[in-house]
Amino acid sequence: RKSRPQGLIWRSVMAYDETNVFARILKGEIPCRKVHEDEHILAFHDINPQAPVHVLVIPKGAYTDWDDFAQRASEAEIARFIRGVAHVGRLLGVDEPGYRVMSNKGVNGGQEVPHLHVHLFAGRKLGRMVP
Ligand code: IMP
Repeated sequence: RKSRPQGLIWRSVMAYDETNVFARILKGEIPCRKVHEDEHILAFHDINPQAPVHVLVIPKGAYTDWDDFAQRASEAEIARFIRGVAHVGRLLGVDEPGYRVMSNKGVNGGQEVPHLHVHLFAGRKLGRMVP
C-alpha cells in the first residue's frame, strides 16, 4: 500500500449532507419566511428567534460551515457573502443602531444545521457575549 505523499495536509472531510434543513429550504422543499434572495445568498427568519430580529443568512453553495467555506470558496464568493449579510442588515433597517453577526462551527460551537449560516440578531441592545 502506498504511503501518503509528503507535504499534503490530510484532513477528515465530512461530506456535505444534502438532506440538512437549509439544503431543503434552498430546494424549496421546506418553506421559510424570506427576507432576501439573490443568485448567491438566501436570508430568512429563524424559526426560534432569540432576539426581536433574528435572521439567518446562508450562501447557496454547499458549504458545511465557516471553516469549509473559508477553505473552499473563492474570494469572490466570500466577498459576496459578507456584503450580502451587510445588505440584509440594511434591508432590515437595523444597521443603525446596529446588530450582531455570529456563526457557530462544529459541536463545541453549538452548530445544529450543517450548512454554513450566520445569525443576524437585532432589535434591542444585546447583552455582552457570555459563552
Ligand atoms: P445553529 O445552532 O447555529 O446551527 O443554528 C441553527 C438555527 O436554525 C437555530 O437558531 C434554529 O432555530 C434554526 N432553524 C432550524 N430549522 C429551521 C427552519 O426550518 N427555519 C428557520 N430556522 C430554522
